[in-house]
Amino acid sequence: MILESITHLSYLLAAALFVFSLRWLNRPDTARRGVLAGVVGMCAAIFGTIITPEIVNYHWIAIAAVAGILVGIPLSRVPLTAVPQRTAISHAFGGLAAGLVGTAKYIIWLDEGTLNGVRVAVISLEIILGYLTFTGSLMAAGKLQEVIPTRPITYPGQNVVNFILLGIAIAASVGLVMNPTAWQLFPVIIVLALIFGVMLIIPIGGADMPTVIALLNSYAGLAAVAMGFLLDNQLLITAGALDGASGFILAVIMCKAMNRSFTNVLFGAFGQAPKQSAVVAEAKPVKSAQAFEVADFLTHGSKVAIVPGYGMAVAQAQHRVREIYDQLTQRGIEVYFAIHPVAGRMPGHMNVLLAEAEIPYDSLVEMDDINPEMPQMDVCLVVGANDVVNPAARSVESSPIYGMPIIEADKAKLVVAIKRSMNTGFAGIDNALYTADNTLMVFGDAKKVLDEIASAMRESSH
Ligand code: NAP
Repeated sequence: MILESITHLSYLLAAALFVFSLRWLNRPDTARRGVLAGVVGMCAAIFGTIITPEIVNYHWIAIAAVAGILVGIPLSRVPLTAVPQRTAISHAFGGLAAGLVGTAKYIIWLDEGTLNGVRVAVISLEIILGYLTFTGSLMAAGKLQEVIPTRPITYPGQNVVNFILLGIAIAASVGLVMNPTAWQLFPVIIVLALIFGVMLIIPIGGADMPTVIALLNSYAGLAAVAMGFLLDNQLLITAGALDGASGFILAVIMCKAMNRSFTNVLFGAFGQAPKQSAVVAEAKPVKSAQAFEVADFLTHGSKVAIVPGYGMAVAQAQHRVREIYDQLTQRGIEVYFAIHPVAGRMPGHMNVLLAEAEIPYDSLVEMDDINPEMPQMDVCLVVGANDVVNPAARSVESSPIYGMPIIEADKAKLVVAIKRSMNTGFAGIDNALYTADNTLMVFGDAKKVLDEIASAMRESSH
């Protein structure tokens, strides 16, 4: 009785901490607290579960815990740029766990003769969502890691085939609900769900993969809700619902920020965007500058905007950016970081890197707030950003990124863009910003170039 009360209290504490965690993760200055709240919440949830009197044997739990720790530690050490695929692997584990729990429950209840229609309906939902999340997430991780082709693989009638597969799985589930002991249908549902997960991801292109991962997060959450009903565990229902809803909201936010329609991401094979419709930048000459010249421009302005992008993450140049920030602010120059919601390869990517370099949060300005200020910026320093500053999104209707909101770097008085070459960014399209009259290019690795600019600034201050 006492143990039961402690379990309920632990679950209550865990549920509250999960809600606060999501809330705090919303802002960079409270994000650490959010992570801590999530960790403490999960510890409370595990504690509340392992003290329940129904557990009679701890051996398997100990083995599973050791296996989880052994897999979890290396997973926590991946570089930030690999976090999307790492997250996909976590979802695969979540989906597999839900699928296996559903399978175990079916076998146990079949054995005990306690299966009924409602139980089988919930189990079916759980195993379909769980197993499709498992294979779908593995496919997504493979595409992001480029161990399997990242391009969408499509064939005529693809969505029809997928819907037929799902339809058969649902029909088999209905058959099982009507006749719960017809166990032969059970493996059919599992196999179809596993195949459907693969088929769902095949037609989706690499560019949409991070959005799909948010969606798979949502499926894993829904599978956890079903698992919570099966195990009569309210905390699983709460946590699964939070997971499902937050994954869905994130997917919608990402679609909006990239101007992708939700159906296009979900059903890649339907009315695919003409992805690589060649948008050729005007063959204008590129004007390049030396680091010392850039240092001069930066220090002679009064307002500077810095637009970080994926290249800053690749070069790990955030600490050099911080140095430039320090040098400029010491001279009384106002510095703003213009943050695009999908700069980099995951939501919040730039915020995390800039926070790592301890750049004050109040210097980070969101796209909608910085854009009206852009014409007042004396210099806009673009550090490894490409698609998120591509004016084609505003003006070239045939461009795959047409309609995507961008940081309007081109409206600054002077643009300095740092990147290694004239290569394209994630969307694979040319960028007319680099050949604009008010743009100077500095070619090279962002870290190295920023180092040179910072040392030129230091010299000029002596
Ligand atoms: P981007 O368009 O991918 O461009 C990054 C640029 O960085 C490249 O053109 C590259 O040019 C340069 N670069 C790479 N390594 C560099 C280095 N070491 N030093 C200097 N420059 C380097 O990046 P973005 O402007 O941040 O845009 C993000 C893209 O990812 C968008 O298309 C967005 O839709 C997509 N996306 C984002 C998310 C998300 O959640 N954030 C999710 C899905 C998709 P060089 O090779 O010439 O150096």
